[in-house]
Amino acid sequence: MRIDIVTGFPGMFTGPLQESILKRAQQKGLVEIVVHDLRDHATDKHRTIDDTPYGGGAGMVLKPEPVFSCVEALQQEHAYDEIIYLSADGEKLDQRTANALSLKKNLLFLCGHYKGIDERIKILVNREISIGDYVLTGGELPAMVLTDVIVRLIPGVLNDGESLLTDSFQDDLLGAPQYTRPADFRGMKVPEVLISGDHKQIAAWRMEQQEKKTSEQRQDLFEKHIRGEQQ
Ligand code: SAM
Repeated sequence: MRIDIVTGFPGMFTGPLQESILKRAQQKGLVEIVVHDLRDHATDKHRTIDDTPYGGGAGMVLKPEPVFSCVEALQQEHAYDEIIYLSADGEKLDQRTANALSLKKNLLFLCGHYKGIDERIKILVNREISIGDYVLTGGELPAMVLTDVIVRLIPGVLNDGESLLTDSFQDDLLGAPQYTRPADFRGMKVPEVLISGDHKQIAAWRMEQQEKKTSEQRQDLFEKHIRGEQQ
């Protein structure tokens, strides 16, 4: 998979892409993530990428020229499955969307900033995705979130691929509680069943815990899970 990220603030990606699992995935050649600086496509000596809004009002707007120049140059090189604008107005990101996107080959993420992007830029985009009903200063953190949720699903990225299937949301249930050594920490003991070695019992306990937690914390998901079981 290849992910191209178009942004006016490429430095924001340095840390997240160069640590831990995302770093390893790139080193193993499982994903190529390339960050493109919109300012490289500005046409003036100040490398301007934003301007004041027509009609007045507060905030600056990302100009169309640098975005078109950058995205069109990339389109000459790559056939994108999806060009996604990270936007507070977009469809809300969930595990199902992440699962589907993890099967694609070429993705391009466009990050807005300031007051947003010139509306005409949207002609380049085939999808808008939001990471939640709140407004961030830019699309950079949302693009990192989207990159992270997708990349960890690529086969071979996690050492124990199995663990994906037991994460929260994969089956409309929250994940089961996890414990590690020591078995007794300050009098708080690990549930007996987990040290019993009885894998059938452990699986049953985990499912019971997942259902309990989901019904207590996320009734909406729990109802979806029950409906799924009945079908
Ligand atoms: N004027 C916009 C509005 O009312 O929705 C907000 C613009 S926001 C300050 C700047 C940029 O951050 C947006 O262009 C978008 O790329 C990104 N952004 C902000 N919140 C987001 C969210 N919840 N999900 C995805 N992207 C978001």
